Amino acid sequence: MRVMVTGAAGLIGSHLCESLIARGDEVVAVDNFLTGQRANVDSLLESDGFTFLESDAAHVGALDLPGPIDAICQLASAASPTDFSKIPVEILKAGSEAIFATLELAQRHDARYLLASTSEVYGEPLVHPQTEEYWGNVNPIGPRACYDESKRFAEAAVSTYARSFGVDTGIVRIFNTYGPRMRVNDGRVVSNFVVQALREEPLTIQGDGSQSRSFCYVTDQVAGLMALLDSDEPGPFNIGNPDEFTILELAEIVMELTGSTSPIEYLPLPQDDPTQRRPDISRASASLGWSPSVSLRDGLPHVVEYFKRALHA
Ligand code: NAD
Ligand code: UDP
Repeated sequence: MRVMVTGAAGLIGSHLCESLIARGDEVVAVDNFLTGQRANVDSLLESDGFTFLESDAAHVGALDLPGPIDAICQLASAASPTDFSKIPVEILKAGSEAIFATLELAQRHDARYLLASTSEVYGEPLVHPQTEEYWGNVNPIGPRACYDESKRFAEAAVSTYARSFGVDTGIVRIFNTYGPRMRVNDGRVVSNFVVQALREEPLTIQGDGSQSRSFCYVTDQVAGLMALLDSDEPGPFNIGNPDEFTILELAEIVMELTGSTSPIEYLPLPQDDPTQRRPDISRASASLGWSPSVSLRDGLPHVVEYFKRALHA
């Protein structure tokens, strides 16, 4: 297959490109480096079948792209809550303009289209664990709305292009995913805690740390994305690891794995920060034959090693 991956220089995108190349696919990678890193795709640039185009995903229609495109994976979007206040308009555009541009390209090429949506479409969930049938509880005018609502819009756009124009689409709702290649200053909890612990700085817990998340290692996430890509299933599918931890538990595990003596610093809980999140993955497991295999304790050491190297460099 010849697969376009937007958001290719990010955490999930770069690992997805690597897996596609490893199995012999060709990859056309697109990224504008808004939150991605060149280093994430450096090693891929040497690979046969890998092409990198520095571009906004909203402009893919104007790129000079000879040859077929068999699939498009639309991952381009900033995803860290710290970016919701810094670059909200860019996030809104990645969830709207970039969606139209990539959907139209998919329609033109008769390509399979995979949308990276998010567990954030469930907002502050009143159903726990979250099933795909749940429609969510989102504040449309709150500080997270630029992200949550643009992903919900993206799901609506994808469903419309499937229904009205027959585009072969698949929606994945990604739950908190971590791994090597996160930015040191990404702002999400796993990278923050590991970097803080390695620097012997206070681990910043927002709120009292009783809120929960379920953390998926990036290779498990990519295996889920590829299973959906290779199927003709429309989804949506929750892809995440159902093992749920409080943020305080995460802090304790990071301290243990790094051997850090950092203190904990309690900060105010940001507005609309969801109190609980855990995927029900029955649908992905039944229809895609997918389930995660890397526990938090097995995945985190790879992130610790990665950040040791990154901080040293
Ligand atoms: P990331 O920030 O590491 O990667 C996002 C990439 O998209 C970056 O390389 C960035 O430069 C690029 N990008 C942003 N806007 C762009 C644009 N307009 N044009 C081209 N490139 C653009 O984040 P990630 O964690 O790898 O997330 C990838 C996708 O998965 C995102 O769509 C995100 O919403 C979704 N997702 C991630 C998680 C998670 O926990 N990691 C959870 C839910 C959903
Ligand atoms: N969080 C925290 N300290 C940090 C960063 C995040 O306590 O330094 C909390 C945040 O308030 C949320 C959880 O960790 O409850 C997960 O946050 P993250 O930004 O990773 O992603 P989210 O799941 O909120 O999108």
